Amino acid sequence: MNLEKELQLMYGDCGISEPVLRLGEEVLAELAPRFEKMDQIAEYNQLKVLQAMHRNHVSEMHFQATTGYGYNDSGRDTLERVYADTFHTEDALVRSQITCGTHALNLALSANLRPGDELLSPVGKPYDTLEEVIGIRESVGSLAEYGITYAQADLLEDGSFDYEAIRKQIKPNTRMATIQRSKGYASRPTLSPAQIGELIAFLKSCKPDIICMVDNCYGEFVDIKEPSDYGADMIVGSLIKNPGGGLAPAGGYICGTAECVDRVARRLTSPGLGREVGANLGTNPAFYQGFFMAPTVTAGAEKGAVFAAKLYERLGFRVHPTGDTERFDIIQAIDLKTPEALCAFCAGIQQAAPVDSYVTPEPWAMPGYDDEVIMAAGAFVQGSSIELSADGPLRPPYTVFFQGGITWHHAKYGILMSLQKLVDAGLTI
Ligand SMILES: *Cc1c(COP(=O)(O)O)cnc(C)c1O
Repeated sequence: MNLEKELQLMYGDCGISEPVLRLGEEVLAELAPRFEKMDQIAEYNQLKVLQAMHRNHVSEMHFQATTGYGYNDSGRDTLERVYADTFHTEDALVRSQITCGTHALNLALSANLRPGDELLSPVGKPYDTLEEVIGIRESVGSLAEYGITYAQADLLEDGSFDYEAIRKQIKPNTRMATIQRSKGYASRPTLSPAQIGELIAFLKSCKPDIICMVDNCYGEFVDIKEPSDYGADMIVGSLIKNPGGGLAPAGGYICGTAECVDRVARRLTSPGLGREVGANLGTNPAFYQGFFMAPTVTAGAEKGAVFAAKLYERLGFRVHPTGDTERFDIIQAIDLKTPEALCAFCAGIQQAAPVDSYVTPEPWAMPGYDDEVIMAAGAFVQGSSIELSADGPLRPPYTVFFQGGITWHHAKYGILMSLQKLVDAGLTI
């Protein structure tokens, strides 16, 4: 049996034409050295996670569900030690009661700031959902309502830190800095953990007691180091992104200094109760196994991002970051130039999904957005963006942001299918 031939036939059966498959294979051949490096990073991180699991004696009893108050939940407490150990922090909170990344960030901020304090973002405007948390956009319950002010220093044109502007923004009441690693849905470059380290060193040289929090969303395990290895007081993220490994059904984490994490625990539950309460309700097996899978899953998603960048670059589309850029998150953006191409791309991602593959995504007027938005996702976990997903606002240059892919082979198929849809609509090649 000629396996290569069989695979080609199988792709044909699954709707991928020969020219699209051939182009994909050509692009992939160039990517071999890049993929090898990603595999090495995954290998390193796999050992890092395993070592943490060994050191903390993870055992079958830790998979027991707890209910009610969740006192003496050794599974939950051990998982938190595994996270802290892996990310080299004093302490960690990893909870299903943390509903999403925004919630985790809100907890880290609101727990560690007090009325009269100022929060500084030295890397420009933070992620959209943080605008209401901070009160950049007026919102009930924002930090602004509690008398916490906000200052910002934008990045320079080339994406580097504006140290002069940052120094000017540091005031006697600047208590905390929020540093977003991933570009998210902005056009600036993603920051590497090492770059974040330089920034933290500078902030602490200006004001030694400033608390540095890093929004680590989409960044975990893309490098062998995390911002916590470079002096961050807290790193924060979502379990339906990288560290949940595609298995965690919900949740968020905060890893950091004992003092910062204790304040977060008291904010999450209550002063006097802190981390002692919070039943795991049966989420522990998925949390442990997801964290165990996370290095490999993240590498698969990153391969998908680079594959798409290279493929679409070759067809003359602008991509961010470019296919050759060293990566520190898993988000890929592609300027598709027309609304038809954006919709075709999303239709391809949807058709390749394991769930809801038969539906066609349509643009809709999403609350809070000026333009219509189109989204493609057929995920096992609602809204999970470590699973292959794509979205974009219907405005020039019709950029699609896409990320995820729990397995590299699914990411590859989804990206080929996105291109197939463009080809079928006569929009490229
Ligand atoms: C996903 C994300 C968040 C949090 O988003 P949720 O949807 O609330 O989980 C925050 N910052 C960045 C950079 C993100 O990518």
